[in-house]
Amino acid sequence: MKIRLYNSLTNRLEEFRPLTPGKVLMYHCGPTVYSSPHIGNFRAFLLADLLRRFLEDQGFDVKQVMNITDVGHMTDDDEDQGEDKLQAEARKQKVDPWKIARMYEDEFRDCLDKLDFVMPHALPRATDYIGQMCAMIDTLLEKGYAYQVNGNVYFDISKFPEYGKLSNKVLDELEEGARVEVNTEKRDPRDFALWKVDDKHLMQWDAGFRDGVRGFPGWHIECSAMSGDLLGEQIDIHTGGEDNMFPHHECEIAQSEACTGKPFVGTWLHVKHLMVDGEKMSKSKGNFYTVSDIFGKGYSGHELRYALMRVQYRQSMNFTLASLNEARTAIARVNEARKRLARIAAGVEAGGADDLAARSETAETAFVGALCDDLNTSGALAAVFAFVTEVNKAAPDADGAKRALAAFDRFDRVLGVFGPTPEVGVDSVPQELLELLERRQAARAAKDFATADACRDEISRAGYQVVDTPEGPRLERV
Ligand SMILES: [Zn+2]
Repeated sequence: MKIRLYNSLTNRLEEFRPLTPGKVLMYHCGPTVYSSPHIGNFRAFLLADLLRRFLEDQGFDVKQVMNITDVGHMTDDDEDQGEDKLQAEARKQKVDPWKIARMYEDEFRDCLDKLDFVMPHALPRATDYIGQMCAMIDTLLEKGYAYQVNGNVYFDISKFPEYGKLSNKVLDELEEGARVEVNTEKRDPRDFALWKVDDKHLMQWDAGFRDGVRGFPGWHIECSAMSGDLLGEQIDIHTGGEDNMFPHHECEIAQSEACTGKPFVGTWLHVKHLMVDGEKMSKSKGNFYTVSDIFGKGYSGHELRYALMRVQYRQSMNFTLASLNEARTAIARVNEARKRLARIAAGVEAGGADDLAARSETAETAFVGALCDDLNTSGALAAVFAFVTEVNKAAPDADGAKRALAAFDRFDRVLGVFGPTPEVGVDSVPQELLELLERRQAARAAKDFATADACRDEISRAGYQVVDTPEGPRLERV
C-alpha cells in the first residue's frame, strides 16, 4: 500500500518515497531539558514513535534520531534574545545548569520508557556535538553564508534567497514582522545567531572555527549538526511541533542547505498544538499537565499514549482528563476480547468453528489503510474496534483465535497502546485471596466500606486486582 504524508514543505499530501528505496532516515526535534516534559510535548514525540513503528511494519529499515537540547535555547523562542532556558532554570533552582540538564533528561527518558516508546537509535545531546557545530559554522563562514561581529557569528539570510520556503513567509513580510532589536550587530534583523559570546553564560566552549571566540552555540545549528553527523547530508523525514516550523526549522534548512548545496529534508511533518480543556495549556489557567502529573493521577503510560494518539496528528485535539478514562475503557475492551481469544487458543475455554482468517485480514487492511492515509490514527483505532465487535460476535476455533490474536499483536506493535496479550488464567488464584474477595463482598453488602477497602488493598499488595464483571467480581493479576 502507498503511504501518503502531508509534507509541510510543499503543502500537499504526497506519496512517501525515501531517497534510498527501503531505507528511511528521520530526525525529530526533541525536548529542551529545562523542565518536566508536558503532555503537549509528548503529542509531537508520539508522532515520531508512531512513524517509526508504522514504517517498520511496512518493511522499511528505519534509522531514527531524536535530539536533546541542553544548551542555547533562549527564553524568547523566536529571537536570539532572552536568557538560555537552562540557565534561567538553574538560577531559579540555585544549581548548576548541567545538573538541570541531566535531571530533566533523566525524567524525559523515564517518560519515554513509561509511554512504551521504541527507543530512537540515537538520542544525542547538543553539548556532545559542539565540535560538529563549529565545523559547520566554519564551512558557512568559508562559503560566505555567515559573518562574525565581536565573536558572535550570524547567518546572513540575504545569501540564502530560499529562506522562508517552509513557513511560506516572504522576506518582506519577515522584515516588517521582525521586531526592533537592540542588537545592532546584525546586518539584517532577520539574521540569526550561530554562535554567541557572553561572559555571563555558564556553559562555554572554545570555538573550533576560524577566529573563533569562546562561547556557546545557537539553538538552530544544533539540530543541523546532529542530523548531519548521525544521518548524513540528506534525510527523508523531519518532524516537530508546529511551533518549531518558524524560525527553528526554517533556520535548519538554511544552515544545512547552505553547507551542503543539497536539499536537506524530503518530507517535513508538523504536529498540531495540543489544546487542554478547550484552551492553550498554561500554568496560570490550571490546565497545564506534565507527564508525571498524569501518572500521579493514577493513569498509565498506555492510557496517556492512547489519549494523545486517538486524533490524527494534524487535527486539532482537545485533551481532557475524561479522555483518559475513555482510554482506560477502550484499552480494557480490546484486552477483554484478546483474553477470551487467548483462553480459546489455549483450550481453557470452548470455542466454535469460525476460522476468523478473512475477518482478521480485512481488519488489518483497514488498519494499515488508515495509517497510510497520513497516519490517520482515529481511522486505525476505528478499524481495531470494528474488529473487536466482530471477534466478540464470533465463535472461533483455536486456530481462528490465534489468527485474530496475531492481528491484535500487530495493532499493538504499531500503536503501542494495548500492551502484550493478557495472560490467560491458567495459574489459579491463591485460595486466601479468594477468601479475601469473599470477605470484601460481604463487607460491601453490609456497607462496611473500611473493611472492604482493606481487603482490596491486601489483594492488590499480592499483585492482583478486583475486576467487576456482570457475573460478579473476579481476581486478575495486575
Ligand atoms: Zn530541532
